[in-house]
Amino acid sequence: MSVEVTLIPGDGIGPSIADATVRILEAAGAEISWDRQIAGVSAIEARLAPLPEETLDSIRRTRVGLKGPLTTPVGTGFRSINVALRKEFDLYANVRPARSLLPNGRYQDIDLVLIRENTEGLYVGVEHFIGVGEDARAAAESVMIVTRYGAERIVRYAFEYALARGRRKVTLSHKANILKFTQGLFLDVGREVAREYDGRIEFEDRIIDATAMHLVMNPHQFDVLVMENMFGDILSDLMAGLVGGLGLAPGANIGARAAIFEPVHGSAPDIAGKGIANPTAMALAGAMMLDHIGQAGAAGRVRTAIERTLRERRVLTPDLGGSATTAEFATEVIRNL
Ligand code: NAD
Repeated sequence: MSVEVTLIPGDGIGPSIADATVRILEAAGAEISWDRQIAGVSAIEARLAPLPEETLDSIRRTRVGLKGPLTTPVGTGFRSINVALRKEFDLYANVRPARSLLPNGRYQDIDLVLIRENTEGLYVGVEHFIGVGEDARAAAESVMIVTRYGAERIVRYAFEYALARGRRKVTLSHKANILKFTQGLFLDVGREVAREYDGRIEFEDRIIDATAMHLVMNPHQFDVLVMENMFGDILSDLMAGLVGGLGLAPGANIGARAAIFEPVHGSAPDIAGKGIANPTAMALAGAMMLDHIGQAGAAGRVRTAIERTLRERRVLTPDLGGSATTAEFATEVIRNL
């Protein structure tokens, strides 16, 4: 039976990688009826709100979204639609796997998953300027929010994820040595939750900066990592770099009411419109979505065909050293299904 999914192609390279992804998923046998919706700059250009009510209604109904990247103006303009979507649907768990797909990548056999808290931390966006004398922007202040509720549910999500997928270890990364209250609470709650999984899943905690260094020196020592919002944002990009770059990294935003799947990368304005973006990250996000809606067979076929295409190195987009277009790459993946 076909499942209805909200498709938000997104901005910049979004529409072209979304088209490629839809072609690949459908060729793999995914049974989906797409409800196409817009958000971000595309919505503003259509004289709608950055996050139109119709788009929200669609996700409320389908409870599953596949989303391309959305452009967020830096410093000024409307606030991030990605953050707004996470808040609206309480998508508290951001799941970002990093797996070696390229045969000649920097490392072989990397298979890591970063679980990032998606609703709290510094990204709640509670910040303001403090004026001194004539200077209205003499200083700026930002608030980091950590709640027992938020910390507990994300660490529990990481352990349940590890259990369900036969993983061996959860590493909680933090900065509790300096931020003794916010990060201290996150660590304390994490340790409490970890005790419930004693004997089933190994647990360790590490300082975030040391985690960054160890990820580069020897990524194989890690398995599932869990951390607060901003640390997870930064380290998941680092992990994407370990396995070949942003063009290959998918992500999922999971909540109790909805789940939205997306590539980790942004709208890539530098290559938008050139037809050369790599659709792998979005297609792999599509595979995560297929798992989520119970179409694991199609998900597996998508992953295998992508791996084969990357291994053969005959048809690759420029970010991977090739000269193929987005559409040519998608056609090659479909040929390899
Ligand atoms: P970016 O990820 O868009 O681009 C960084 C670099 O990676 C660029 O050189 C780009 O060409 C390259 N790249 C990214 N995806 C690629 C792909 N699929 N194939 C080939 N090369 C690829 O980051 P940015 O330039 O910092 O951000 C651009 C915009 O995207 C900003 O407005 C930002 O806010 C937004 N953004 C959105 C999301 C999201 O929607 N989830 C995530 C990150 C950034």
